[in-house]
Amino acid sequence: MMPRSSGRFSGAGVASALPIRVGVSRCLLGEEVRFDGGHKRDRFLTDVLGRHVEWVPVCPEVEAGFGTPREAMRLLGDAEHPKLITMTSKRDMTTPLAVYSKRKLEMLEQTELSGYIFKKDSPSCGIERVKLFNAQDMPSRTGVGLFARAFKERFPLVPIEDEGRLCDPVLRDNFIERMFCYHRWQLLVRGPLTRGSIVAFHTGHKYLLMVHSREGYRSLGRLVAQAHCYAPKQLAALYGRLFMATLAVKATRRKHVDVLQHLIGHLKQQLTPKEREELNSVLRDYHQGLVPLIVPVTLIKHHVTMHEVGYIQNQAYLNPHPKELMLRNYV
Ligand code: SF4
Repeated sequence: MMPRSSGRFSGAGVASALPIRVGVSRCLLGEEVRFDGGHKRDRFLTDVLGRHVEWVPVCPEVEAGFGTPREAMRLLGDAEHPKLITMTSKRDMTTPLAVYSKRKLEMLEQTELSGYIFKKDSPSCGIERVKLFNAQDMPSRTGVGLFARAFKERFPLVPIEDEGRLCDPVLRDNFIERMFCYHRWQLLVRGPLTRGSIVAFHTGHKYLLMVHSREGYRSLGRLVAQAHCYAPKQLAALYGRLFMATLAVKATRRKHVDVLQHLIGHLKQQLTPKEREELNSVLRDYHQGLVPLIVPVTLIKHHVTMHEVGYIQNQAYLNPHPKELMLRNYV
């Protein structure tokens, strides 16, 4: 068994002194808390990601006092204000779950979560497409679990996903990248916050932002160029929102190729014609889907290290999350 990581990962020159805390639906860790007394252990979470994060496990239904095993529940009524109703006895559990959620979210505020992984399809934990029944007992996939909804409203910047969507390598890479970015952002905001530290953070995330959205990157650039117009806290509030929204835009293969070409451009002076040709050839292979992203990134990192190109070396794009997760081997 590999040693557990401290979860202390630094990127873009921002060192993390604290573990990265991630909320998780308890049943995904293998705890027998489901309505039927079972669990839904997710091996990627327990055996891989768990080495790099500190879990904060939550089971809303058990912690609200519903017990295990318990009667199964479902969402009923209007998509914006659904009720949580037990399947057979038709008891309304909406209020106890809402009271619990309010109390729990206040506690989680202190925990400073950098992400949350919810159990899909659950009337308490599902983040989207949960079955919602109408008065005629017809289901539609338009519901959101009651606890997940309350969490999203209370912590709109915290990246969330469900374990089903994490099976997609692109979504997995994007979610974990956002989690680590948000963790670095939390550390920055917690430290002695200055306009200069926000500008330096922005500089270190340039290529990572560009690979998601050039428009988002430009808007953030305009904001930091006007840094002197804002108090540091005000600037951080504006920057943090736009930063997380930009990272949520999907990075495509085409956008990665653009960014990688930019990085190669920085190495123009240092590379021999043969090395340049090799890099361009690897980039073509990546563009055509013949090799994964890790291949061109590793080759560029090699040249950046060999030639000590400081500006690029500190870019979060080259090290967005722990390499042991091997996320870029599959995208
Ligand atoms: S889905 Fe949520 S409420 Fe249901 S068992 Fe898992 S953690 Fe508990």
